[in-house]
Amino acid sequence: MFWFLAAIVSVHLLVPLAFLPYTFVWWGLPVLVIGNFIFGSLGINLGYHRMLTHSAAKFPKPLERLWVLFGVCCMEGSPLWWVCTHRIHHQHSDEEGDPHSPKDHFYWGHMEWIYTADDRRQKLDTYARYVPDLMGDKFLRWLHRGEKWLLVWLAHAVALTGLGFGAGFLFCDTADAAVQFGVQWFLWAVIVRTVYVWHITWLVNSASHRWGYRNYGTNDGSRNNWFVALLTNGEGWHNNHHAAPRACSQGHRWWEVDLTFTFVRALQLVGLAWNVAAVKVPKHIAEGAKESVPSSEGATSEGQGRQPPE
Ligand SMILES: [Zn+2]
Ligand SMILES: [Zn+2]
Repeated sequence: MFWFLAAIVSVHLLVPLAFLPYTFVWWGLPVLVIGNFIFGSLGINLGYHRMLTHSAAKFPKPLERLWVLFGVCCMEGSPLWWVCTHRIHHQHSDEEGDPHSPKDHFYWGHMEWIYTADDRRQKLDTYARYVPDLMGDKFLRWLHRGEKWLLVWLAHAVALTGLGFGAGFLFCDTADAAVQFGVQWFLWAVIVRTVYVWHITWLVNSASHRWGYRNYGTNDGSRNNWFVALLTNGEGWHNNHHAAPRACSQGHRWWEVDLTFTFVRALQLVGLAWNVAAVKVPKHIAEGAKESVPSSEGATSEGQGRQPPE
């Protein structure tokens, strides 16, 4: 955990360097958008969240590994840690025991919880209880033990940076221009992209539990937040997600665009995705009072809309 926190601080500290005259480039923006789709949407949304946490779809093994590796390249923790945290969140959403409810403080739900010790996720018992289906996966255990997922992030950062410098020396006229391109690529494709994906993922936990509209009467503060949905390619339709956690699609109305799900649909059409979980909202949640403000008092883990760990 120490190394994770040290890495979060270090990577944040490098971000201002991307905005100097020598390093700021407009092509950094498309790099962010594309980088977010590859690593954030395919890695975190699809790999860590919908596939590992909720078994929302199946893919050929090499693709499943690729989604997990893309997720690791976002430096959001080991897959086992992430899934364990998120399943606890679903079980205790916005009540006692939720690892990151922003009910009292936005900043707590956004990122303070990450660097605040939570003994639960240090204990093997917790993993045995919340991620028993994944504990037998040697690759996931390997990534988790000794924080090797952090080394994988480092390896991908070195590889991507190497590619940037290689492209610079191939396509730039002078060595100075090549070095400048390599530095710009490192800052935008690795550093700023990692920080961008962090914060938009964390906005799902913070903003989408505070602001937005509700399609369903879940017993938590989850909201559909169009801005977060736009940034995260679909994860901001968070009230929908809490109403039907297993569903692969998080956009339930026609205007609730979910590009992550569109991608799964495309894979399904060519036979590369199957067992895609449909949207099934229990009647009492579909018809529940949508404007009810959840209260930690009296809420129980068996409450309305509460999901057991899957
Ligand atoms: Zn939530
Ligand atoms: Zn979820």
